[in-house]
Amino acid sequence: MPVRTDPRSQQPRTIKISADDNVAIVVNDFGLPAGTVFADGLKLIDRVPQGHKVALVDIPAGGAIKRYGHVIGTATRLLVRGSWVEESGVRLPDAPPMDQIELATRVPAPLPSLEGYTFEGFRNPDGSVGTKNLLAISTSVQCVAGTLEHAIKLIRRDLLPRYPNVDDVIGLTHSYGCGVAINAPDAVIPIRTLQNLARNPNFGGQAMVVGLGCEKLAPEVLLRAPSGKNPDIMSLQDEAFTGFGPMIEQILQMAAARLEILNRRTRETCPASDLVVGMQCGGSDAFSGVTANPALGFASDLLVRCGATVMFSEVTEVRDAVHLLTPRAVNVDVARALIREMQWYDDYLHRGGADRSANTTPGNKKGGLANIMEKTLGSIAKSGTAAISGVLAPGERATTKGLIFAATPASDFVCGTLQLASGMTLQVFTTGRGTPYGLAAAPVIKVATRSELATRWHDLIDFDAGPIATGAASIEENGWELFRLILEVASGRKKVWSDHWGIYNALTLFNPAPIT
Ligand code: CA
Repeated sequence: MPVRTDPRSQQPRTIKISADDNVAIVVNDFGLPAGTVFADGLKLIDRVPQGHKVALVDIPAGGAIKRYGHVIGTATRLLVRGSWVEESGVRLPDAPPMDQIELATRVPAPLPSLEGYTFEGFRNPDGSVGTKNLLAISTSVQCVAGTLEHAIKLIRRDLLPRYPNVDDVIGLTHSYGCGVAINAPDAVIPIRTLQNLARNPNFGGQAMVVGLGCEKLAPEVLLRAPSGKNPDIMSLQDEAFTGFGPMIEQILQMAAARLEILNRRTRETCPASDLVVGMQCGGSDAFSGVTANPALGFASDLLVRCGATVMFSEVTEVRDAVHLLTPRAVNVDVARALIREMQWYDDYLHRGGADRSANTTPGNKKGGLANIMEKTLGSIAKSGTAAISGVLAPGERATTKGLIFAATPASDFVCGTLQLASGMTLQVFTTGRGTPYGLAAAPVIKVATRSELATRWHDLIDFDAGPIATGAASIEENGWELFRLILEVASGRKKVWSDHWGIYNALTLFNPAPIT
């Protein structure tokens, strides 16, 4: 990745987002020392790390601290002009109540449509389009995971070279299936997730399940198929198998039949409207809401203008700004669905003796984010400016176009797994602190919030939004560049670093129901 330098980045520099903000963040790599004087005369009285906030005026104890034009907290003590506004100086405000907020009152007008943008994808019989051509082998229970992984090593070594149009073979292994309260009301979430994961467009509709035979989650349920003999299902306890060898042989035979079909798939030119893009962030810092998320929000608007499906997620990083999102819902039903998902999550956290303040990590705080309110205001920048056209409960499959809120936990792997179940074929992941996150089932474009990270992690980060902070690029320029990269990656013309190295996180189901 080329290192972009700009003479302006060497000068002491802060970014203030909104005209009435009373704090700004320090842009310079590695922060600035006490005594630094800015062009406007502001003088630092503390050392302020990169991405951390400096008080632009004297803020009295109890006074509102404003960033993004919104109150991110109140001062716990007098914060004098030029001082470092660190975490202990900021008290978290209450979450906005959900019983008196506006529903679909400020629906954005449809954005002007964008024609002519395409990508090279794998079209499926059901009309969906994949960005990869993968054989995915589902499992109904964790008991079979080791056996399946053994078989996959052999498939990769002995079968895959004969099917050059197939990108890879992956096992959809997980911790669910047995030892769980399968009929508990919340069990619908992991079960639906596994059902919809098997149907991800990147898998070409070639379902195949390896089960054990005595598990609670019957493989037929996973495939939504009638019970009885099914050619897409094999169970290790089948009495036809004498020992381990024949089990492996059966998995290889079933895999070969599906590889034969998948190998006939070739990329064809598809309109960008066939894309299903997931967005999330992980390891956020104070730049997330200044550079990477606004650039992604701009790219998201471009995708929506092309007619694509774009999902944003992560309930605890949306909850504190729900009053800014419900007015953007396309109608009252969608706004109510958004509140329904927020309320479900509030109750879920409450049952576990936690609240939304549990979200921020030590890394977020080191990166300058004082609390969840500040993190949330930066996080929702990913959603761009489009109307919110739909809401999905965790693991539901997206069926509409446009900007969709897919309710998921913020945990990177859980969000990734749920977005895959919702039909995501490519993910864009913004990070400030850095993470080598990747998914085997779909390409993940990792976007750095800062050039320092993009340079240091030159062989892990795919895109640098840092030039926005230094003024070397605008949000629009950077967002267009990201949009073009999305089309290149979706077409298989450009490989993301996690695919280059083959580094992938495990599928991680969201199971809010009891384990027995
Ligand atoms: Ca996340």
